[in-house]
Amino acid sequence: MTHIKIKDISFKYDNSKDEALKNLSLDIEKGEIVAILGESGSGKSTFLRIMSGFEVPDKGLIRVDDKNFVDDETYIPVEKRKIGMVFQDYALFPHLSVEKNIEFGISGLNRKERKKVVTQMLELVNMKEYKNKYPHELSGGQQQRIALSRALAPGPSLILLDEPFSNLDANLQQKIRGELKEIIKKSDTTAIFVTHDKNDAISIADKVVVLENGEVAQVGVPDEVHNKPNTAYVSNLFR
Ligand code: ADP
Repeated sequence: MTHIKIKDISFKYDNSKDEALKNLSLDIEKGEIVAILGESGSGKSTFLRIMSGFEVPDKGLIRVDDKNFVDDETYIPVEKRKIGMVFQDYALFPHLSVEKNIEFGISGLNRKERKKVVTQMLELVNMKEYKNKYPHELSGGQQQRIALSRALAPGPSLILLDEPFSNLDANLQQKIRGELKEIIKKSDTTAIFVTHDKNDAISIADKVVVLENGEVAQVGVPDEVHNKPNTAYVSNLFR
C-alpha cells in the first residue's frame, strides 16, 4: 500500500478569496525523500502546515499507512500525528543541552530507554561527543543535525522540513545536503521538505513536486523535472 496518500486537498485562508491549495494529490512511498519546490506564494508552507495539522483543509484526504489524518469525517490534530518537524531556524531550546534537546519528544520513555535513543540518534548524526554542549556552542550545520535527531528520536512515520538549508553558509550547503540525505536514508524515514532552491531539490530528493499557484505543476525524479520541464514556470525554476 502507498505509504502516504494525499488526494484532492484544497484550502483557502479565511481572509483570502483565492485558494492557497487546489486539488492537490500526491502519493509517497515509504522512505522516499520528497522536495516541494516552487516560487514564493506557490503554497509550499501551506502544504506543510496542512500535513503537520496546523491547518485543516477544506476538502480532501490525507492517509499515512492505514490511518486517515484527514478525510470528510476525520481530522487528527498535530500532537496525535507523530510527525517529526525541523524548522528553518532549527528551534532548539537554547537553555537545554544537546542531550536534553533530543530527549524532548521522548519524555514518555523511562530513563534507560531515553539514554539508549539519545545515543542512537547521536551516532546517527555522528555527534556523540557533543552530548553535553549547548546549541550556541554548535555550528549551523551541527544545530541542524541535532534538530533532525530530535525530530527522529520518537521514531516518526514522517518528517517535515521547512527550508532546511536557508540558514546555512553557502559554502557548506553542498556538504550538508549530502549529510542530511544520508541521515534520513539511514533512518529509513519518509521525508517531505519545502524549498525554493532547485539545488536542494536536485541534490537530495528522490521525487520533486513543483507547485505553481497552489497546484501541482509537475512531479518527477529530479532529472526528469530538471531536463524535461513541462511548462515555462518549471523551466524558470531550474534556470
Ligand atoms: P510559499 O510557502 O510557497 O511561499 P504560502 O503557502 O505561504 O506560499 O502561500 C500560498 C498563498 O496563500 C499565497 O497566495 C499567500 O499570499 C497566501 N497566504 C499564506 N498565508 C496566509 C495567511 N495567513 N492568510 C492569508 N493568506 C495567506
